Amino acid sequence: MDLQPIGQSVVHGRIQPSAPIAVGILGFGGLGQAAAQVLATKGEMRLVAAADKQGYAYNPAGLEGITCAAVYQRQGSVGYLDPGGTLSQESIGDLIAEATQVQGYFLALPNLPNSFMAAVVDQFIAAGWRGVLVDALKRTSAMEQIWARREALQAAGITYLTGCGATPGLLTAAAVVAAQSYADIHSIKITFGVGIANWEAYRATIREDIAHLPGYDVDTARAMTDAEVAALLDLTQGVLTLEDMEHADDFMLELAGICDRDRVTVGGVVDTRNPKKPLSTNVQVTGRTFEGKISTHTFTLGDETSMAANVCGPAFGYLKAGAKLHQRGLYGFYTAADVMPQFVR
Ligand code: NAD
Repeated sequence: MDLQPIGQSVVHGRIQPSAPIAVGILGFGGLGQAAAQVLATKGEMRLVAAADKQGYAYNPAGLEGITCAAVYQRQGSVGYLDPGGTLSQESIGDLIAEATQVQGYFLALPNLPNSFMAAVVDQFIAAGWRGVLVDALKRTSAMEQIWARREALQAAGITYLTGCGATPGLLTAAAVVAAQSYADIHSIKITFGVGIANWEAYRATIREDIAHLPGYDVDTARAMTDAEVAALLDLTQGVLTLEDMEHADDFMLELAGICDRDRVTVGGVVDTRNPKKPLSTNVQVTGRTFEGKISTHTFTLGDETSMAANVCGPAFGYLKAGAKLHQRGLYGFYTAADVMPQFVR
């Protein structure tokens, strides 16, 4: 279905807000629940659908994020929501078929295995669904799989925005802006600090981070039991130090024409036992100006901002931007480095 007009229109000299965008969240773990909380504060978007592995909830008049989170935490699935919930082992496919009013989804799903998000995209295309999809995908090789579907997305009438979290996402977009001072980009270095109180709140994020450690890959990290993850974290006092990660910021910046991917590096420190960030998340963009000066721009996130704030805010900002593209008939594949996010009120 096509999107309703969004944002504002001027009628008789007065700004009129139009109908809020009907939004669904796929994946209702750490990020999905935080995303629902973010939406509760917004007038321009309304949460109407949510899905996890065991079920889904749908109400075109709106879902209460707090209630959904309470049901999920108590019973393990939003499918237990009453009324509005349905238990299903095919929750994504069933929700796409039932939730005809959803105009855009935030895909807060784990990408385990590494082809999972691409398989979800195929489900949307096969269902004949039209609208905006936004992900917070991290791995380069996973994003390349979405990119390979760009023509199919275009033909399907889907506006797909990928890499719209923090990194990739907010920091990649900041690097695009910072690059404008230079004639040549020498390096883009992203360093993130994440502090969370316990790893169980973000199981997929932590498993996907473990997959970057020496001796691990996506499949071994996916196969680890919760007890094995906890045992590994015990060995490091809960801290994961990650270097030279396979992060799609490189692919996005190359596609955007900023620099070759080998000039982009991503690493960080994740403390799974302390919500305080172990270091300040930043991106450093080094280049040469047209006068021949070498310099570095640094963009640093406030230490008080959580991973959830820095992922969910941009994800919805890009969803709003995507809705405008969709309205104009602009479908296909975009990254957070191609489009400016909008601010959702
Ligand atoms: P999580 O483990 O807390 O939750 C995952 C959710 O997905 C759960 O609700 C689970 O039931 C659901 N799910 C799993 N398989 C499903 C299926 N087949 N159908 C429907 N639902 C399913 O995950 P999280 O820690 O919130 O992370 C989500 C994703 O966000 C991860 O891939 C992570 O890498 C990514 N992430 C990106 C950034 C960024 O800056 N780009 C930052 C943090 C996390």
